Amino acid sequence: MSKNDPIETKSQSLDFIRTIVKEDLASGKHKQVITRFPPEPNGFLHIGHAKSICLNFGIALENESTCHLRFDDTNPSKESVDYVDAIKNDVAWLGFNWGDHLYYASDYFDKLYEFAIALIKKGKAYVCHLNSDQTREYRGTLTEPGKESPFRNRSVEENLALFEHMKNGELNEGECVLRAKIDMQSPNLIMRDPVIYRILKAKHHRTDDKWCIYPMYDFTHCLSDMLENITHSLCTLEFENNRALYDWVLDELDTPCHPQQIEFARLNINFTVMSKRKLLQLVEEQHVNSWDDPRMLTISGLRRRGYTPASIRNFCDTIGIGKRGSWIDLGVLENSIRDDLNESAPRVMGVLKPLKLVITNYPEDKEEELDAHNHPKNPEMGTRKVPFCRELYIEETDFMENAPRKFFRLSQGREVRLRYAYLITCQDVIKDEQGNIIEVHCTYDPETRGGSAPDGRKVKGTIHWVSARHGIKSEVRLYDRLFTVEHPDMDKEKDFKEFLNPKSLEVLESSVVETSLASADPSQRYQFERQGYFCLDKKDSKPGSLVFNRTVTLRDSWAKLVKKGKQATAKK
Ligand code: ATP
Ligand code: MG
Repeated sequence: MSKNDPIETKSQSLDFIRTIVKEDLASGKHKQVITRFPPEPNGFLHIGHAKSICLNFGIALENESTCHLRFDDTNPSKESVDYVDAIKNDVAWLGFNWGDHLYYASDYFDKLYEFAIALIKKGKAYVCHLNSDQTREYRGTLTEPGKESPFRNRSVEENLALFEHMKNGELNEGECVLRAKIDMQSPNLIMRDPVIYRILKAKHHRTDDKWCIYPMYDFTHCLSDMLENITHSLCTLEFENNRALYDWVLDELDTPCHPQQIEFARLNINFTVMSKRKLLQLVEEQHVNSWDDPRMLTISGLRRRGYTPASIRNFCDTIGIGKRGSWIDLGVLENSIRDDLNESAPRVMGVLKPLKLVITNYPEDKEEELDAHNHPKNPEMGTRKVPFCRELYIEETDFMENAPRKFFRLSQGREVRLRYAYLITCQDVIKDEQGNIIEVHCTYDPETRGGSAPDGRKVKGTIHWVSARHGIKSEVRLYDRLFTVEHPDMDKEKDFKEFLNPKSLEVLESSVVETSLASADPSQRYQFERQGYFCLDKKDSKPGSLVFNRTVTLRDSWAKLVKKGKQATAKK
């Protein structure tokens, strides 16, 4: 854990898992609690994984014990070292530390093989030659019992010999598998003689070509937990039916310890997809630029977008741990970063879509430096100087010709305040041949330096600006939700990619930001006044050619739209 980023653990109220842990410690069932986070290195981590990471590492921290990081690397055809590295990086960035407890299921391949042999010797596992279609057919359904495989009652010797052949690469992929001999009549389909080993002639990123048989998840997971003395093995609800198999394997092998599997509801967020397989499709088919595309709810995407580790941990705290699945609104995640940055982000001025403003009564060669505070509510964050001169940029949308009475920004004949500077009045509009406004001409009142008039007259609007002479041309990337519907992967007829939002990325190439950002800190997030929170894009920004990502807007504009929609419906 990084020292300057302490993780608050005391405020945790007790969810049902923490209650179990507490009781197990109180009763003496366990002296120490050990948890683990077991990612498969077949993609980058997403916000759903963050929930599991915060839970497992959080419980360890609260109990001054350890949480293991274990790679569940039993499917070499989909896994890679790059994914392993990215996952380690993400967990550490979130603020968690596995210390010496970094493990790989592949470290246990020898032991797992021995355990499989022990099962065979007990008459509890057999080599089965049914092909995958036949296996499915024999399995039965929820309403029909399964049928026993014709290979089920082979002798122990025959099974041992065949399993050895499998291991030695003498049989082909798909030719046979090793199955646990449990109960083809079980109401729990998982218990109908599940496959525990299969032939896969693929190079493994750690064991290379040592193995051509690989253990299945259900066999590997419980035994890896057991070998590491895990006390509480926390997983998501889809594994509820697998618990019987988890317990069966450990019971049959009479292991010295028997971790308790406990299931909790996975995190679902609307307007996004949350499985690595689907995220991988978005990357491979180039619907997004990379795993860390700031539109992706991967940990690396959120990091690049400007989310802080604390905001993600707070989010996970807010949503809590429960037994029932539910959908969390994307706005809840956005609020977590908004709350964080509202407190911590220094304020600056940046004009996203610039319109030239000329102060006609301001001397051509004059320049001033005006004082601007870095945070309105936190004087300790100090002030900075912003240069001011005759030509400025303002936001295109802050000017309107023939504006209605309630438009409190700039319009002909109206007076507004330039933030930290002067009151100005618009006198004239300059247009190009097509009639587009290319400049607005104003006069300023020299008596109003700092923004208030000595005669006490009031102006309604304050707009931000950047000196045209000093401002830094920058690229600004604005992001919107990646999908246009709440549940893109729940449509039975349409592929989730059909719901991709074509406007999820808007690139503004001629934005201008204030001079102080020339030395912008890549790890800092800024509030561009009135526009939202931004950070430098770490990948694409170079000195002299800055790229900013908008992390989040100042307010939840979607919530407003939804509310408006509801009001409109209510009126009808
Ligand atoms: P995905 O379907 O995205 O690949 P997974 O469960 O297959 O997810 P793993 O790498 O196996 O991915 O997951 C590691 C751990 O993270 C598991 O314990 C899993 O239960 C947990 N996890 C994965 N997705 C979520 C989620 N949406 N909410 C909470 N925990 C999750
Ligand atoms: Mg998985």
